[in-house]
Amino acid sequence: MSRFVYADNAATTPVSEEVMEAMRPVFLEAWGNPSSQHTKGYEAKELLDDSRARIARVFNCRPDEIYFTSCGTESDNWAIKGAAHLMRKKGRDHIVTTKIEHHAVLHTCAALEKEGFRVTYVDVDSEGILSLDALRDAVTEKTALVAVMYANNEIGTVQPVAEAAKIAHEKGVLMFTDAVQAVGNIKIDLSTLGVDMLALSGHKIHAPKGIGMLYIKKGVRLENLIDGGGQEKRRRGGTENLPYIVGLARALEIADARIPELELVRQRRDRLISELTKIPYSKLNGSQTQRLAGNANIGFEFVEGESILMWLDMAGICASTGSACSSNSLDASHVLLAIGVPHEKAHGSIRFSISHETTDEDIDYILETLPPIIERLRALSPLWEDLNKKKQKED
Ligand SMILES: *Cc1c(COP(=O)(O)O)cnc(C)c1O
Repeated sequence: MSRFVYADNAATTPVSEEVMEAMRPVFLEAWGNPSSQHTKGYEAKELLDDSRARIARVFNCRPDEIYFTSCGTESDNWAIKGAAHLMRKKGRDHIVTTKIEHHAVLHTCAALEKEGFRVTYVDVDSEGILSLDALRDAVTEKTALVAVMYANNEIGTVQPVAEAAKIAHEKGVLMFTDAVQAVGNIKIDLSTLGVDMLALSGHKIHAPKGIGMLYIKKGVRLENLIDGGGQEKRRRGGTENLPYIVGLARALEIADARIPELELVRQRRDRLISELTKIPYSKLNGSQTQRLAGNANIGFEFVEGESILMWLDMAGICASTGSACSSNSLDASHVLLAIGVPHEKAHGSIRFSISHETTDEDIDYILETLPPIIERLRALSPLWEDLNKKKQKED
């Protein structure tokens, strides 16, 4: 019997049994429209309110600061476009973000550039961490919004979001964080974090694909992204996806409660990193310390990431070359390029994103399987051959 190891949790996660059980009665029994003025509607409305209240408890915010959306991408779009359009009325037409954001943020910023906004993409250091000095230099009286992701989806680096929020607020600028990867990994207390908006997505934390959330601090009047009916206090139209909303609330409670157990995930991740970086010409991408518990992103010279992935997949191991969204393109990862990894090395990088479900045996299996794959692929590489010839001459 061959093994199956899923080590691509940063791309998506399976719906958990508990989340499935929480959603099931909403599909089959409480299927009413929360806006309806009858028993079926009231039943649904109660579940909607209850979900919002439970999520507010997880994040220590007000229930009326929580807005349900269709995904993380929609939340990112709403936060950034909504803030840009709001602040333009006050003469602010400049956005500050980082070079390593998710495409949902970068491409939204690019769309705003076409509308005439100016965008500054602040550098990160070689570990992928935002420089607060560079951020401070970038923010001006014309800045509308600072958008800094909480944790990076490719290299797992965790950003100084609270400090960035302080810098933004000193100049009257709104602060947004894409926390899709941070949720369930880092305890988030919205009463102290200091952000005005925070985006998250269900399918990265064992809720279904197609549900997201945007926290909008009370008093921040973002322009609507989706106009329609009176749902979400008239700020996001569309009949609420109640089964998924109930699932998201359950998933968030579970993810939050399991944060203390991440120490074990971190230990397994560290074993993966320390063993795999023993392979010659390999290197950890990102930070040793400011890193998500489940993320190991390692660059291997003289091999193509795509080829490694294919061989891993044939051995029953699911990993990634970086972001699932960019893996269909042949461009090197913008994140790896931003931390100074040269093109040819960026192409040989593999991301393992493990979870609570990943076992020691799974790690053993990856450690058994990957080194011979690298060896085999390098044996086919002309660059590897040149290197070895050069070495032989030197000896
Ligand atoms: C997955 C992801 C998104 C997009 O979320 P979807 O729900 O898939 O649209 C946005 N930002 C980050 C950091 C992500 O990892």
